[in-house]
Amino acid sequence: LGVKDQMDAAVKAAGLEERVQVVGVGCMGFCGRGPIVEVEPVGLQYERVTPEEAPSIIEALNGGEAKPVLGDRHHPFFSGQLLIVRENSGKIDPEKIGEYIAVGGYQALHHAVYEMSPAEVVAEITKSGLRGRGGAGYPTGLKWATVAKMPPGQKYVICNADEGDPGAFMDRSVLESDPHRILEGMAIAGYAVGATQGYIYVRAEYPLAISRLQKAIQQAKRQGILGSQVFGSGIDFRIDIRVGAGAFVCGEETALIASIDGGRGTPRPRPPYPAVSGLWGEPTLINNVETLANIAPIIKKGSDWFSSIGTEKSKGTKIFSLTGKIRNTGLIEVPMGISLRTIIEDMGGGIPGGVKVKAVQTGGPSGGCIPAEHLDTPVDYESLAQLGSMMGSGGMVVLDEDTSMVQVAQFYMEFCRGETCGKCVPCRTGTVQLYQMLTKILNKQATTADIEKMKLLSEMVKATSLCGLGQTAPNPVLSTLRYFPEEYQALLQPEE
Ligand code: SF4
Repeated sequence: LGVKDQMDAAVKAAGLEERVQVVGVGCMGFCGRGPIVEVEPVGLQYERVTPEEAPSIIEALNGGEAKPVLGDRHHPFFSGQLLIVRENSGKIDPEKIGEYIAVGGYQALHHAVYEMSPAEVVAEITKSGLRGRGGAGYPTGLKWATVAKMPPGQKYVICNADEGDPGAFMDRSVLESDPHRILEGMAIAGYAVGATQGYIYVRAEYPLAISRLQKAIQQAKRQGILGSQVFGSGIDFRIDIRVGAGAFVCGEETALIASIDGGRGTPRPRPPYPAVSGLWGEPTLINNVETLANIAPIIKKGSDWFSSIGTEKSKGTKIFSLTGKIRNTGLIEVPMGISLRTIIEDMGGGIPGGVKVKAVQTGGPSGGCIPAEHLDTPVDYESLAQLGSMMGSGGMVVLDEDTSMVQVAQFYMEFCRGETCGKCVPCRTGTVQLYQMLTKILNKQATTADIEKMKLLSEMVKATSLCGLGQTAPNPVLSTLRYFPEEYQALLQPEE
């Protein structure tokens, strides 16, 4: 039996069913300390709770002694966060629509369909300054406006839940912890752009997310929130789930659309953009999970509130999955503009054993490695790009001074080599050759000329690949060459 089952049994055994309720909630974010149990309204938090220890938390309510480690809700990991997207995560039962409604869920959708015109909704999202959280940071309002302007007819809304970066699990957590938030964001989007059908494309590796989404859709239909009469308004919006088979490239929007279409999940050249010709050739709005999770709060609290958070060009918050050689691992939601140092040293608690940070890798395989001397950089789209990295979907891997940066580059290149769809030559063969070059360097068989060749090939793959996967695959190579050339030099054969 798991922690919750053991606690349920302990409540029953102690005859406390009338007074104590054990509620299964989504992720609280502090993965390195999980499973976490909170006792409300007392405000106690226990961490790393095992099934064997769990009953003692119930016994403690009757004067006994709790065996698990007492956690700290005011820990810097939590106190430095600003929760918008994850405000309900770890607080409500994601399998009960009533709990979502009780915390104000679906009010934004009701307000949008009864108090706002579709154009006003688009204008509000545009004014908020929200940018796509899937990686590229494209202005969300502009995307919505493009689909909204297309002639009336069949249009679609797609939620891209094909999260695939190594070390990234933000979207999974949001889907598992607060699925109705995504449905609400999609329904508002559907109303705004004139779409009647939504699809959530979610990877098969996320079975809990899929089952919670399925339950949420059923509940929203039964309540008359989704279907032919959204809140009895005459507006039609339905949502179905499509399960992806785990190809990384299907996170690219044209590949994702091809996969739902029933074709092979490979990218195609753009234009036409999906906003003009997407699913089955119809105008299609495609946003990622975190982007859609921001929609309901923006409609509820207003664009001025949202745009007051963050920096001039990057508004709101961003969720990062903080992993690697760091004391506190897990999911953090922070305002844009916060420094990498605050995230890593204060919230993350630094590296155990007094070991120094060497670099932080952001943006997954498309991103790059930022060296420790740039830790005061504010986290926003432009600043990270200037350093040769990117926000990406929000992976943040901390590397310590014992880490080989050449091996890090090889790790990400191996990932891209395995995930290239093979449609275009520069990416199909370039990633394989770059991987081989990195292996040659690590085997101490390369010369300075090989490094030059690797740089040239990296630039060529970036410039000529068809989609974002190939265009960004060389980033980890180029950023480690830029900031850690001495590590490459140390592995080269001496010149004759
Ligand atoms: Fe496929 Fe790579 Fe070309 Fe993208 S860049 S279409 S992943 S081969």
